[in-house]
Amino acid sequence: MDFLMDILSKLNSSQGKAATSDSKHLRIIAGAGTGKTRTLTYRVAYLLMKGIAPNRIVCITFTNKVAREMRERVQQILDENHFAFEGFPLISTFHGFCYRFLKKEIDSLGIYNRNFNIIDDEDRNRLYKEIFTGMGKKDNKDFCRSIVSTIDHIKTEGRYPEELSPKDVPLGSVFTFADLEKVYSQYQDQLRNQNLLDFDDLLILTVKLMEENPEIRSYWKRKFDDILVDEFQDTNAIQYRLLLLFMGEETALTVVGDPDQTIYTWRGAKNEIIKNSLQKDFPDLETVVLDENYRSTQNILDRANCLIKKNHDRIDKDLLAANHVKGEKVEYHDYFDNASEAREVSKTIYQLVQGGKAKFSDIAVIYRSNYLSNVLERQLALYQIPYRIYGGMKFFERKVIKDALAYLRLAVNPDDYSFLRILQAPTKGIGEVTLAKAKDWMAKEKRNNLLEVFRLDQDKLKIKSSSRLALKDFFDAYDRFQKKRENATDNDELFSAIASYLEETGFLAYVRRLDREETDRGSYVGSTGNGNEENVQELLHTLQQFFSSEYLGEDGKPQKPDLEDFLIEVALQSDQDTMEDGNQVSLMTGHVSKGLEFPFVFVTGLNENIFPTSHAVSSLAPEAIEEERRLAYVCMTRAQRRLYLSSFGGNDFIHGGSYRPSRFLKEAGVVSEMKPTLPDYQAHQGTRRPSSNPFAPTFMSKMGLAHSNKSNENEKYQVGDKVVHTTFGVGNVLAVEGNKIDVLFPEPFGKKKLAIGFKAFHKLKEE
Ligand code: ATP
Ligand code: MG
Repeated sequence: MDFLMDILSKLNSSQGKAATSDSKHLRIIAGAGTGKTRTLTYRVAYLLMKGIAPNRIVCITFTNKVAREMRERVQQILDENHFAFEGFPLISTFHGFCYRFLKKEIDSLGIYNRNFNIIDDEDRNRLYKEIFTGMGKKDNKDFCRSIVSTIDHIKTEGRYPEELSPKDVPLGSVFTFADLEKVYSQYQDQLRNQNLLDFDDLLILTVKLMEENPEIRSYWKRKFDDILVDEFQDTNAIQYRLLLLFMGEETALTVVGDPDQTIYTWRGAKNEIIKNSLQKDFPDLETVVLDENYRSTQNILDRANCLIKKNHDRIDKDLLAANHVKGEKVEYHDYFDNASEAREVSKTIYQLVQGGKAKFSDIAVIYRSNYLSNVLERQLALYQIPYRIYGGMKFFERKVIKDALAYLRLAVNPDDYSFLRILQAPTKGIGEVTLAKAKDWMAKEKRNNLLEVFRLDQDKLKIKSSSRLALKDFFDAYDRFQKKRENATDNDELFSAIASYLEETGFLAYVRRLDREETDRGSYVGSTGNGNEENVQELLHTLQQFFSSEYLGEDGKPQKPDLEDFLIEVALQSDQDTMEDGNQVSLMTGHVSKGLEFPFVFVTGLNENIFPTSHAVSSLAPEAIEEERRLAYVCMTRAQRRLYLSSFGGNDFIHGGSYRPSRFLKEAGVVSEMKPTLPDYQAHQGTRRPSSNPFAPTFMSKMGLAHSNKSNENEKYQVGDKVVHTTFGVGNVLAVEGNKIDVLFPEPFGKKKLAIGFKAFHKLKEE
């Protein structure tokens, strides 16, 4: 049993015990960074090496990124121990798991077929808009918003329109029960007509099929020997129900989680499940607790421990650094305003990298909400710091990529949203009036979809001849592609059929034309990777790679994925998946940062009404603040070596008054005393109040960039000095002439003459 020794040598004793446990029901409950995911990874490898067949193991992770990393790591452990198997266990998110299940089983529902696709947010909004327009409610924003959020909530509970109850209408609501029933049923009907599922449908339909179909259930209940789940504290009721349905008499379950990191209760997560339900459902449950943290220094953990202790109703546990390293103190700065916070953070990053202390990829900036990234992005760009935003505009959300995908989706499942896209890319000259007529006609003649209407009813719709030609070209290419797809004997053939389909439909010519037009307008940035054609090429490249990968089929044999698999893979991308690993600073929200780690972490915008959010601050339910506190705890515990916390001042135009540092700073023990907001904060024309942070002034002067209103008149410059300018970024002093300096800034700014004393720039002092 060499592999057993190997596994035990890579883990501490509790981790090793958990990874190799023979318990049928095992719960690993432990704080951040204690090696839960690592233990789970080793457990998967252990089970395989122990002889469990790859297709009898399923491991559920919270994101595709973690799933991918886990697969690589498991493979590595197997290689190191000279084990090789045909195929690999399914390691995926709940949604990915449900897709595999539904691909096989959904036909038996009789209302969808296995070519189903997932509706994206944009099309979902469009669908709702159509429903609201039909009801004459389109302009009643309150009505639309509240009804959609009610339906979202109901879906996280796994209920369909026929299971609604009048109690689902909140007190004092702007909509009635009849409205709710109408909107929800129309929404589901539309999806069904188009063979489209939303994210929740993936889970709900899986549960329904398992619950209502004894044959399916008895087959799948016997399929798995081991089910493992990471981040179990964020499991919601329907996911748990789903899990129980797949647990046969013989199935073993391992879950890992940290109740202090439940941050998705707003999406139905219940940490009650990890805390209590498991024990009730599995009285033989074994619990392993891990208490050593391998990620962070003790100074970081002390602050995180201190913060999370403020939550009630938790099992108290302190995180201890496994290597006993105290490390640097957690830094906290209260900045003049959010622009100076962004500038100082960028500058610190710049200095860390310049000083050889870090690579850009070692650094993450984490904030509460996406909108906070704008100001950061600007400053990072000025410092020429490469960065990537997780959860920002995803590659697959770019217009041209969605257009390309619409062509592919249309071939698999001709939904109307995809067809409407291709009518515009390139345009076939179909106007709104014809489109409305086509929709009426579709309903009247019971056509399956718009594609069919535009193929068969061109005379009825009185389509003009130029449009007919454009449509004919499209349909010809489409039909040729469908034939080739049918006859393709392998994925190489399929891939080349796809490439010629995009060419023959005129789509690629259209994309090139777009690039040319953008170049003419001077906005083309092709060489930096934002060109439309480059993006489509990148998509094809990704597709080609995907086609050459393998997954373990339901029969236990490795299989090549098909086009349907690719489209679903794309639809299930999560916010963490927008990131290619390069030497870039990572920007992300706290929610997205879950499970990740970075040597240097900045948590910015730690202000009341931002983090915690105003919603939580004004909520009467103490749980709202507790959830925000857990989120802050998640953010802080991402840091390995250094943690920088910051807040900012300035006028808060939304909530009135001026911004105040977050209560979490005091609770974490980084600020000894928090002053209440005083009106005199705004005293001198909105400039910064006296800082409530005793460390701030010394730090800022050390950095050479104190408040932006500090004069730099007396600064002495010499050739070779570095200057940081609010617009041009960081430059080198080339010449000094009296009170003027020549500075060379990066392109596109180039050489600039600056007058010393001008507030827009300062000398950059190296630490
Ligand atoms: P989170 O709660 O944030 O999800 P986690 O409990 O899943 O954290 P991991 O991500 O598994 O923690 O581990 C944190 C870090 O500590 C990783 O870099 C991991 O490789 C390392 N680590 C964990 N256990 C050990 C160990 N026994 N020896 C060396 N490194 C370890
Ligand atoms: Mg983890």
